[in-house]
Amino acid sequence: MPLTPPLPLLYGDHVSQLLVDCHGVMLSAATAQAFSAMQQAALAQGINIMPCSGYRSFERQLHIWNGKAAGTRPLLDANECPVDALSLSDDQLVETILLWSALPGASRHHWGTDVDVFDAQGISRADLQLVPSEYQAGGPCDALTHWLEQHAARFGFFLPYQAGQSGVSAEPWHLSYAPQAVAMLAHFNHDELYQRLKQSDLKLKAALLPRLEQIIATYVHHIAAPPQNLTIP
Ligand SMILES: [Zn+2]
Repeated sequence: MPLTPPLPLLYGDHVSQLLVDCHGVMLSAATAQAFSAMQQAALAQGINIMPCSGYRSFERQLHIWNGKAAGTRPLLDANECPVDALSLSDDQLVETILLWSALPGASRHHWGTDVDVFDAQGISRADLQLVPSEYQAGGPCDALTHWLEQHAARFGFFLPYQAGQSGVSAEPWHLSYAPQAVAMLAHFNHDELYQRLKQSDLKLKAALLPRLEQIIATYVHHIAAPPQNLTIP
């Protein structure tokens, strides 16, 4: 399986020949293959790792962003309490949306190398809310969390969003396939994203574009590093 990073996906263009179906989500072929190997190994220990989100397009992320900016999609503050988008200044609105949603063009889910997972042995997809408590002691995905800590690196996966180590708050469900994702991040370019956003129909552009450099530093580059023992399969 070629480990060449799927660079045409970097800002969320839909390049279908670089994506394959993996249990209903789309991933790069190399990521899907490594995921399947990891899934097999976990299954032998009673954990059923299933994906619930993989590749997401720029257009999809734009739709989410604009819905939150317009107040037509639920907007939550840092304590997960609903906020009225219309009560916030544009700067406050940008900050609030970024707490829970990536800026279009700046999501690792654009790359096909990143996947959100849950333990289908512990909870159904329909019941899953994708909140940290589900992945902590007593939660339905607790065993998965421990298994991933011990074994994910053997299959090339790491957790980029960890408490105190990333600009994005902890997401114990978000796995990234390092053999491709590290190169994707290295190719990420501020000017390219700036131009794409400028030409898009993104809401809050005027508040956002002057701060783009800081937003990229915090939400794209500031991640937990892959562990030293990570294996490139
Ligand atoms: Zn994710």
